[in-house]
Amino acid sequence: MDQVKRAVIAGAGIGGLTAALALAKQGVEVVMCEQSSQLGEVGAGLQISPNASRVLIKLGLADALTSKVFEPAYASIRDYRSGEYYLRAPLGKEAEFRYRAPYWHLHRADLHAVLVEACRSAGVKIQLNAEVSGYRQEQDKVVLLLTDGQSVSGDLLIGADGIRSAVRTQLLGPEKPSFMGQVAWRGVISVDDLAMKIEPEACVWAGPGKHLVTYYLRGGRDVNFVAVEERSDWRSESWREEGDIQQLRRAFADWHPQVTELLGAAKSSFLWSLNGRAELSTWHNKRVVLLGDACHPMLPFMAQGAAMSIEDAYVLADQLSQYDVPIALMNYEAIRKPRATKIQQMSAANAGLYHMHGGVLGKAKLKAMQLATSIAPKIVQSKLDFVYGHDVIG
Ligand SMILES: Cc1cc2nc3c(=O)[nH]c(=O)nc-3n(C[C@H](O)[C@H](O)[C@H](O)COP(=O)(O)OP(=O)(O)OC[C@H]3O[C@@H](n4cnc5c(N)ncnc54)[C@H](O)[C@@H]3O)c2cc1C
Repeated sequence: MDQVKRAVIAGAGIGGLTAALALAKQGVEVVMCEQSSQLGEVGAGLQISPNASRVLIKLGLADALTSKVFEPAYASIRDYRSGEYYLRAPLGKEAEFRYRAPYWHLHRADLHAVLVEACRSAGVKIQLNAEVSGYRQEQDKVVLLLTDGQSVSGDLLIGADGIRSAVRTQLLGPEKPSFMGQVAWRGVISVDDLAMKIEPEACVWAGPGKHLVTYYLRGGRDVNFVAVEERSDWRSESWREEGDIQQLRRAFADWHPQVTELLGAAKSSFLWSLNGRAELSTWHNKRVVLLGDACHPMLPFMAQGAAMSIEDAYVLADQLSQYDVPIALMNYEAIRKPRATKIQQMSAANAGLYHMHGGVLGKAKLKAMQLATSIAPKIVQSKLDFVYGHDVIG
């Protein structure tokens, strides 16, 4: 028997922590190595759709999370100037009934803190200041190597170390992620700073070459925004920097008053370059396996990056609970790669829709969606069902 007894995880982001928790609950000893000096997450929101919330609930996190979520009533797409609705699909209780799990908006820091707390209670060891440089595979174990010269061994290494994964680099060779020609500002505004009320929906404001996503967080006390703009270059070496609020306001100056008022109340933001990768040839080798952004980073235009890492984590732990390491890793890749790749492609395709590519034709596509929603809602619904209805628990 070659079942996993001790797993080492590179990276304590949302994917790595979910995998750690799922494995620890199965009795596996888990050690995590995180490069940061302290645990935490940037101030921004996350949409956790039912395909991911069902996993968090299954892992016992419902009580800890429900006081921190906001449940949107609709998923909407609106015109950047007129505010006309191209899409208004019900979420809330209707989605919960349809998908047997809720649609949540969560602050990343809240989800991260709940996962860390649950991992620690389940006995997971989290080493901070532990930057991974690579690994060494031996006959019946794998040794994770840290930049300070230390090492940690186990019978499995999970590379959950994000888009610039050191584990991926060693597994498949060096290759930088590619800039996707888009930047995103992210920020959170307290409702106390807003003179107006926004709708209780996950709303995409679609406009030429740009879009803005808005939604409530923390029971409606905060509003999250993600503003995306197409750009041909990104000069900074860093992929995240303090955003210039004036520049952000100028970029959306001629948009609907709800958008300009909202951005007028923003006090700070972070600016991200959005990067991606082509589909990898494989996600595993012997005792080393990748999950989350380490193997399938995606444009955030379906709000599925973290959700996919949560699905990955559950499937990986589930396969490891049933099979020896080589079979479990093979099954995991066979189950997860087609779905993650499809969602990666669907996310990239949404750039064209949200940014009205093709001018008049671009707007016509949104109009066609508006028509389809009213005369054949099942077509639009089936696209959402594929994403939100997926059940990795079975
Ligand atoms: C603008 C924007 C909006 C988004 N909105 C959503 C959304 O609404 N819903 C959603 O589901 N997803 C969303 N995403 C995507 C989501 O944020 C990511 O897909 C998700 O965080 C990936 O999780 P992960 O655990 O794989 O990687 P990460 O969150 O990147 O975690 C990787 C961890 O590994 C650590 N690490 C990295 N290198 C090393 C090393 N060498 N040694 C040790 N540790 C290391 C990092 O410090 C980090 O803690 C969004 C992304 C962006 C950019």
